[in-house]
Order: sequence, then C-alpha cells, then structure tokens
Amino acid sequence: MKKILSGMRPTGKLHLGHYLGVIKNWLELQEKYDCKFFIADWHALTNKYKESHELKENIRQMIIDWLSCGIDPQKATLFIQSGVKEHAELSLLFSMITPKSWLELNPSYKDLKFNLYYQYLRDFLTGKQVKIIQTPPPESFDEAVKKATGKQRNKIFEEYLREAFHRAFYNQKGIDFKGLKDVLIKLGIQKRIVEEAVRNLEEGDVGKDIDTLGFLAYPVLQAADILIYKADAVPVGEDQLPHIELTREIARRFNNLYREIFPEPEAMLTEASRLPGIDGRKMSKSYNNAIYLSDSEEEVNHKVLQMKTDPQRIRKTDPGNPEVCIVFDYHKIFTGDENILKDIDAKCRNAQIGCVECKKILADNLNQFLSPIREKRKEIEQDIEKYEKVFIDGTLKCREIAEGTMKEVRDAMNLYGNF
Ligand code: SF4
Repeated sequence: MKKILSGMRPTGKLHLGHYLGVIKNWLELQEKYDCKFFIADWHALTNKYKESHELKENIRQMIIDWLSCGIDPQKATLFIQSGVKEHAELSLLFSMITPKSWLELNPSYKDLKFNLYYQYLRDFLTGKQVKIIQTPPPESFDEAVKKATGKQRNKIFEEYLREAFHRAFYNQKGIDFKGLKDVLIKLGIQKRIVEEAVRNLEEGDVGKDIDTLGFLAYPVLQAADILIYKADAVPVGEDQLPHIELTREIARRFNNLYREIFPEPEAMLTEASRLPGIDGRKMSKSYNNAIYLSDSEEEVNHKVLQMKTDPQRIRKTDPGNPEVCIVFDYHKIFTGDENILKDIDAKCRNAQIGCVECKKILADNLNQFLSPIREKRKEIEQDIEKYEKVFIDGTLKCREIAEGTMKEVRDAMNLYGNF
C-alpha cells in the first residue's frame, strides 16, 4: 500500500479554510493509503520561535480539531514531530550534502518575505488612516499610475497597493524602494506617510524574524520528515511543489553519494481551498476574518451576518449578483443542494431575497455542518489525556520506523553512532 506523509504546523485553532484545504483530503486519504499525519511543532518554530509559549496549547487544539473532524487513529498513524528526534538527526546529515544555493533559490522563502513586508506596509497605511478600498479598481494599474494626480488623497485600491509592492519586490536588483515610493505617491497617498512607511521597511525589523538558519533550512527538515519514513507520496498544493522537488534531489544526491536508501517521493497535487474569509481576503487568523471549527453557533451566526456581500446591492430592492458575493461562495460549499443554490441565485438576481435572509440560510447550513464536529469536540475535551495518548502511541511507533532508517543511514555514512 502506498505510504503517505503529511503534516501541519500547530499555529492555532483550525478554520474552515484548513478543513477544506487539508483535513477533507486527509479524510479521503486515510481510507485508501498507509497514512502518517504529524503535528509539525519544530516547523512552527522556524518563523514563530518567539511564540514558543503558545505551542503546547496549539498542539492540544490541533489534536482536538483533527480528531473531532474524523481523522482516525485506527486508520492513520498520528504523531508529533518533536517526539521523533531522528528527524533532526537526518536533517543534520542532509544539511551536509545540500548546497546552500538550493535553499536560497527556494521560491516560498521569497514569497513569505513578500507577504511579511506587504502586510507591514498595509497595516502601517491603515494605521495612518489611509483608506484601503477593497472593491476592484476601475482601470488597469498602469493606466491608474499614468492618470493619477494625487487628488484622491489617502485612498488606494488594495489591488493597486499590492501590484505596486509586487513590482518593487520582485525586482532583479533587490527591492526597489525608491520606485515603490514614487508609485504610491502617484496613486494618491500623502508623501509624508509614504516616506515614513518605506523608511520603516528599509531600515526596520520587518522580515528579520525569518533571517535565520532554521528558516532557510526548513525544506531540509521537511525532506528528512518525508524520507525518514520512505514515503511514496506527499499531498501538496501547487506552491509546495518546489519543496517536493528539493526532497527528491536530496534523496538522489544521498543515494548517489552513499547507498540507495531513499525512494523519490511523488507530489500528490491537491486543490487549494478557495474559501475566502468573511471580509473577502484570504482566510487567516492574522486578518481576524476566519470561521473556526471550534466556533459556537452564536459565533458562526454573528460572523455570517458580518460577511461582505455584493457591494452594488445597497437596498433589498436592488438586484444582486451572486458571482461577486462571498456569501454565495460559501453557499456553493455548504448549501449542497443544487436546486436551493439555483433558487438563491435567481432570487438574488431578481431582488426577491434579502441579504439577511440569505445569510440566515447559510448560517443554518454552516451550523449543521459544524454540529457533529462540535459534539465530538466536547467528548474529546472531557477526556483529553486519553486522546493525547493516541498521539504518544503514534509517536512511539514512528520512532521505531525512523530509528530503523537511521541505522541504515549511519551505516551507509560510516558513522559510529549505531550501538
Ligand atoms: S442575496 Fe445572498 S447572494 Fe445575493 S448579494 Fe445578498 S448575500 Fe449575496
């Protein structure tokens, strides 16, 4: 049977985006394959090392979330990474044979930096009362820069802000701070505010947290996580493909240098979740726009009521467009019945249903979906030690397998540690 390995960083409670992007897929995989799912607590430290005090609680929440969603220890092996020290040993040995350039070229390293810088810029501008407009801008970015006169002081379309920063960041010669400054001023933000924001980006601490050896080398640890179990396949989103390629290269290099020990794992491409947060941005804890699997009925009702709808629909009598409405995106997933969906679509377009009523239907369906998860959660919380033990047992089992691989590795590398 195919061996599958997959892990998640314990960075907080899981939300619907995690469920649709990872857990739903795991529920299918555990029925068909020999799966190992692990809580990647060492990986959480690669960019959150200052928040290690949160780890224990986050791990506990992750255990509850996984099990209450139906991840089944009878079907898959569940374990905690830091309980299998052999991952770290193999990672160290792999780091000896991995050229530094393989890591520096890793695209997700750069993308994470981009996100950190961009988020800082956005938060800074919002803090200075710059209005960041969410609706799509009326013309292309280049047109807007050409036409901009700076009359619309301190208002900017989110899409243009991102585009301006993207152009400045993904520049051949490093970040083009001067270019960024010029464009933001042209797009309407006051010069004084732009200068302060860009100076902070240039000279401040943003991004410094990930300028560590641990962060740069985390794909090597990831390779060790996968190869130590000789996994055949790893479920990943498209953005993770370079990591799997790196794992394959490390396996190849090891096999060529010493002895054929590691199979080259395949990537099992999974579709990324397209469910936005309640404000239309990517669902994320840091945007405070997520619906959590652990949310109560009241919390779900409240969050659904806050959801953004078709911005053109001001009054109930205005016809709406479900294609640009987040509520309808959710309906497509949680209001499974095709006929009900068609009915909502038609009534929205003909102004026969109000947004509050439409949201009420969604909230009921969401609560129906979450209800069995909540029930199971209650049961697990009452006897958490019993369920934590499931993870300890899984970890012990993995330790044995990992130690078996390490014996082969130490032997192949003529290390003295095999006693
Ligand atoms: S009726 Fe429903 S789908 Fe239409 S705009 Fe309102 S919330 Fe969105």
